[in-house]
Amino acid sequence: MLLCPVRECHQPLTRDERRYVCPRQHSFDIARSGYVNLLQPQDRRSKNPGDTTAAVTGRRRLHDRGITEPLLRAIADIAVPQAKDTVLDAGCGDGFYLGSLARDTHCAGHGVDISISAIDAAARRYPDVQWIVANADRFIPCVDGAFSLVLSITARMNPQEFRRVLRDDGRLLVAIPAPDDMIEVRGAGRDRAGRTIETFAAEFKLLKQSRVTTTADLDAEGIEDVRHAIYRPMQAEVAKPTRLTLSMDLLLFGRY
Ligand SMILES: [Zn+2]
Repeated sequence: MLLCPVRECHQPLTRDERRYVCPRQHSFDIARSGYVNLLQPQDRRSKNPGDTTAAVTGRRRLHDRGITEPLLRAIADIAVPQAKDTVLDAGCGDGFYLGSLARDTHCAGHGVDISISAIDAAARRYPDVQWIVANADRFIPCVDGAFSLVLSITARMNPQEFRRVLRDDGRLLVAIPAPDDMIEVRGAGRDRAGRTIETFAAEFKLLKQSRVTTTADLDAEGIEDVRHAIYRPMQAEVAKPTRLTLSMDLLLFGRY
């Protein structure tokens, strides 16, 4: 399932006790919490790439408040993961969506994110899923056709790699922020659905499209978590209890 991330290698990795090793003896330790770090030095965007610990903690607290539960249900309704599925979540963050879907459906889950903080948090909470630190923008370190379902939930998108790792009869679920997502703190956004469908048009056909919108009443602490989660300094008048809208466009694609 896993491939060596070293450029010009990409040989299969096999598990050997507490590490993964390829035929050329490139070796990757499995962390105490259970994830494997396959991030190559040239694939780091910075010294500590991806979400910071503060962002991961803020997002997890928002999930734990239950405010993203309707989004999770809507994703399950359109993607319909089942026990027989092998699922990749590319840009999985703290693992809330994949970990919850794997818990509910018993599908085989594999989550990739560039942030060590996010993957470590995911591995601690959802030990039944395989968690991998890697830069999925460049290379998803998995064999061709490994997955029957690929998820990209408000993450960066890599159509060519998604297509490569997806089975011929596999499906791809892309979730993007809808224009009214967090409108109270960021203002109205663009409608990105059309452009996203175009981005995938060469590799995928659109099967289904839906929008899920929910609101949550947040106290000052919740607003502080949002501030960390979106890295956005907010004006003082927003940092008080308020109603927050969460909204996603969900696009389900199949392969041609
Ligand atoms: Zn190798």
